[in-house]
Amino acid sequence: MADYDDLYRELTEAPGAPGREEAVRDILRRRLAPLGEVMTDNLGSIVAKARGRADRPRVLVVGHMDEVAFIVHHVTDDGYLRFHTMGGWWEHVMLAQRVRVCTTTGELPGVVGSKPPHVLSPEERKKLVERKAMFIDIGAGSREEAERMGVRPGDFAVPYCPYTPLANPDLVMAKAWDNRAGCAVAVRVLEGLKGGQHPNTVFAGATVQEEIGLRGAQTLAQAVEPDVGIALDVAIAGDTPGIDPDESQARLGRGPVLLLYDRSLVPHRGLRDLVIDTARKAGIDLQFQLLPGGGTDAGRIHLVGPGVPSVALGVATRYIHSAASVVHRGDLDQMVRLVLALIDRLDEDCLGAILRD
Ligand SMILES: [Zn+2]
Repeated sequence: MADYDDLYRELTEAPGAPGREEAVRDILRRRLAPLGEVMTDNLGSIVAKARGRADRPRVLVVGHMDEVAFIVHHVTDDGYLRFHTMGGWWEHVMLAQRVRVCTTTGELPGVVGSKPPHVLSPEERKKLVERKAMFIDIGAGSREEAERMGVRPGDFAVPYCPYTPLANPDLVMAKAWDNRAGCAVAVRVLEGLKGGQHPNTVFAGATVQEEIGLRGAQTLAQAVEPDVGIALDVAIAGDTPGIDPDESQARLGRGPVLLLYDRSLVPHRGLRDLVIDTARKAGIDLQFQLLPGGGTDAGRIHLVGPGVPSVALGVATRYIHSAASVVHRGDLDQMVRLVLALIDRLDEDCLGAILRD
């Protein structure tokens, strides 16, 4: 299925800090426009509307465009960039990373500078370096030079990691699979709907500002007024050394993950059971995850209006919220199949039965 490399590459390589998703939105607008009527809300979330055989139910299927990022706080006298984090970061994965600083005049390469071991005391070596001690080096010799390069407080930076299929080509390493995976699945779901035979109306696309508190999902859901919400996101892969089965049992290549519980959502029971039944009937392996420390856009969508039955589906992903994450292409394919099979069943009768459940 290497044909989706173009889609995956351009989505994962685009920079998109929370609130600064325009590069990702431009890609989605171009990809979605041939597939439906494109709508955006005032914060920047974007969907394409694909009407099937009926106006209702209105099914909202969304990933999120933003990624965890850094925001420039100020430039030091000698030209280094002090920054804050946007979204959840762990200091261990920040130090010594290459970044792209996105300014109004263009992008600048840089690196989160680190001390060589030669000058570290034994105590320092054991300690976590805190974010407030870190800085981004863009090669400017002074604040004035950094300003001439275009840097201003409030500019953002994202990790630099070119899209890279691994030696096992099923596995692909990239930055920002969280959540360009969901963006890619949303595009592919709409492609799969061509012909308009689905028994509902689908709004598929992606939200803004998920990583800092599911903000775009709220305004988008208010604008779309969906009857059903399906959040497409990543799940935590547990198939690497050091992750306990109590933390995650999801494995790459074993199919999409249904989120059973997190900080933001108890999935609607009827819809959850429909997902499980649909996966079984379609022969799609389904994995499960409980994530008391996480949340997805479904956490906001389900609270809009009188309440919207919602679920969150995830692509098992290694090393999320770091510079380089890894997914299995097959999981993206199976997620697309599952969402299409679900959409196929979600007619008015089906929704009525779910709501009575
Ligand atoms: Zn995330």
